[in-house]
Amino acid sequence: MNETTKSWLNTAEDSDFPIQNIPFGMAVLPDFQLAAVSRIGDWVIDLDKLNQLGFFRHTAVDDTSVFRQNNLNDFIALGRKKTAGVRNRIAEIFDINNNELQNQLKLHDDIIFSVNDVKMLMPIAPGDYTDFYSSIEHATNVGKMFRDPANALLPNWRHLPVGYHGRASSIVVSGTPLHRPKGQIKTEDNPNPLFSPTKELDFELEMAFITCGRTNLGDNITVEQAEDYIFGMVLFNDMSARDIQRWEYVPLGPFLSKSFGSVISPWIVTMDALDYFRTTGPEQEPKVLPYLQFEGKRNFDIQLEAAIKPQNTEETVVSKTNFKYMYWNIAQQLAHQTINGCNINPCDIYASGTISGPESGSYGSLLEICWKGTNPIQLSDGTSRVFLEDSDSMIIRGFAKKNNIRIGFGEVITKVLPAK
Ligand code: CA
Repeated sequence: MNETTKSWLNTAEDSDFPIQNIPFGMAVLPDFQLAAVSRIGDWVIDLDKLNQLGFFRHTAVDDTSVFRQNNLNDFIALGRKKTAGVRNRIAEIFDINNNELQNQLKLHDDIIFSVNDVKMLMPIAPGDYTDFYSSIEHATNVGKMFRDPANALLPNWRHLPVGYHGRASSIVVSGTPLHRPKGQIKTEDNPNPLFSPTKELDFELEMAFITCGRTNLGDNITVEQAEDYIFGMVLFNDMSARDIQRWEYVPLGPFLSKSFGSVISPWIVTMDALDYFRTTGPEQEPKVLPYLQFEGKRNFDIQLEAAIKPQNTEETVVSKTNFKYMYWNIAQQLAHQTINGCNINPCDIYASGTISGPESGSYGSLLEICWKGTNPIQLSDGTSRVFLEDSDSMIIRGFAKKNNIRIGFGEVITKVLPAK
């Protein structure tokens, strides 16, 4: 990464989207056209228009319609090498030392839009969705609350990245409100379950990676190969109804307590942009089986925060954590996902699981922050919460920063609507 490169599109010092980022998304432009877009600072760039004008000549997308679809699936399916070529070309066009487009002022209004004038859409049509459970602090906290504090981690946890197959149809983009889900709730003082809107609506602060590769049934991806199959990452809010979850999850895991909606940030930040922020993860003890062993830095130093914003008032940050705390890294997750021969496709989504850190204030869910409802959190408007209330908005933000280079994801925001 060239730290000193600047763009001729003005970019605030603390922007998540300097020219070193170049993320990808889908937007409705001011003329109501749907377009594949990138972003520098607060400027959104119409990639299809750039392609039509010949700016991607000699790249993998020249003369194709990958930017003229309802989502980025065809583009992402080109594979990591080709999409990296396109990303490098975008960085070149918008480099302050490049005049190809900079001097063609009359083209700017057709290609470049203020982020305030566009509406961001779901960037991909998700294929399959897996949710892991890879934060040791989160798994330990949940184990303490729901099972035995002395044996909080189940025996398998340090040997494999525990996960389950989730629901892809209800993954939505930031800004999509979600109705409070209803379901079966079993209380201790009643022998039978009740049917009710959840009283324990929670968020889960997660990140997710999106695949760009395809494998055949029977094949597996090694830890070394894994990142070649990953296009990029997003923030991920895995909304959860804890009371419904507690009753339904035995013995096959979460079901309707999770599938009513999960929310992603609109900008997919590429693995190439994140490469600069590699770091080592927690030491894995005992030693893992050979197919999960890895070399080098496989974790990423990405600062994360969660905030609650009640209607008509300011937000309160309720958690600050970091993606680097993940016990199981993304390469291990994908290697494990495919070790049985399960095939993968471009635009599958793999979420990390709730990211909790070791310090107080770094828990990634209200379940942990308020310790199962026993320890309310005070908000700046004078109210308190143990779980989310109707009209609350839940916000997750994330960015990586090193040597004055900041690569961010923006935010994912989810408003809670009353039960339907
Ligand atoms: Ca989750």
